[in-house]
Amino acid sequence: MAGDATATRYHRIQFRLGLVSFALGVGYIVAVLATGGAASLAGAVDEWPWWAQVALIAAALGIAHRVLLAPLAWLRGWWLPRRYGLLHQSLGAWLGDQAKALALSALLGLAGVEVVYALLRATPQWWWLFAWVAALALYVLLAVVLPVWIVPLFYRLTPLADETLRARLLALATRVGAPAIGVWVADQSRKSRTANAAVVGLGRTRRILLFDTMLGFAPREVEAVLAHELGHHVHHDLWRGLAAQGVLTLVSFVVAAIALSAGVGWWGLRDLSDPAGLPWLAIVIGAVGLAAVPLGNAYSRWIERRADEFALRVTDDPQGFIGAMERLAGLNLAERRPHRVKELLLYSHPAIDRRIARARARR
Ligand SMILES: [Zn+2]
Repeated sequence: MAGDATATRYHRIQFRLGLVSFALGVGYIVAVLATGGAASLAGAVDEWPWWAQVALIAAALGIAHRVLLAPLAWLRGWWLPRRYGLLHQSLGAWLGDQAKALALSALLGLAGVEVVYALLRATPQWWWLFAWVAALALYVLLAVVLPVWIVPLFYRLTPLADETLRARLLALATRVGAPAIGVWVADQSRKSRTANAAVVGLGRTRRILLFDTMLGFAPREVEAVLAHELGHHVHHDLWRGLAAQGVLTLVSFVVAAIALSAGVGWWGLRDLSDPAGLPWLAIVIGAVGLAAVPLGNAYSRWIERRADEFALRVTDDPQGFIGAMERLAGLNLAERRPHRVKELLLYSHPAIDRRIARARARR
């Protein structure tokens, strides 16, 4: 099928560019560490207060890293998706979105690094434990504010105008025990053809979000997608995900504490809180995160499969589910049947063909 060949080609190019960008990023941080770049920078501003030294080194690392990878980010995020008809945002609008995302991640990243270094100074023995508690608080806060403050930075949200569909979706949410206060539509079509839906917020603030690119779907197909999202709520998958992230963060910080102690001797650091150790800390935390990717994805695929089963059970409409999967696969240019190894290592959802086959088996 022509569509499949196009999707395969698109994902092959994305995958290769992803590898190049990963190798460049790692190469850069290792080079900064090995050449003593961070140490010279810290030495040059020795008389600055500690937090300003940390900020300077973090900014130098982060900005240079972004600049180095900017051409690849442009290729992967704008040029290639546009070439394959997924994106139609102008370069200016795309850069605007990137700038907002960058500002958010820079702010959070800098605050995180400052907290870690403050703890390294205050309690060299237990910094990792306090840093872990701070990270947990941040994850919960992000999960709560993401739909309220962050989504509106990128989308204009309007209440769903189609009354019949709205009543149908809200009735489904109530029926499965996850009532929502309304259905909002995000203006995704301004940027891209890709489609998605989400149920965000908890308890009395729970609301349904649809990308306007889904408005061409048949009502039973929208219902199937929504039922999957409601499955995540009924199964408390948000908390499951946060718990998994919490465990991973604890492991990373424990490994980082051990590696940083060893790193003082290896990299000639003044002590644990020497900001010249920042690249080493980044490498260790990054390596633990990378090692955990296949495990995290396996867990995520299990969660997604359960949400699919939930959707099929509560709608009792495999045809609606299959229709929705077909449309999503087409719009999102999904790789329907990725190589099994690729799926096992990198896919957070089961492959589309597998999801459809399971729905067919229920018919
Ligand atoms: Zn899902």
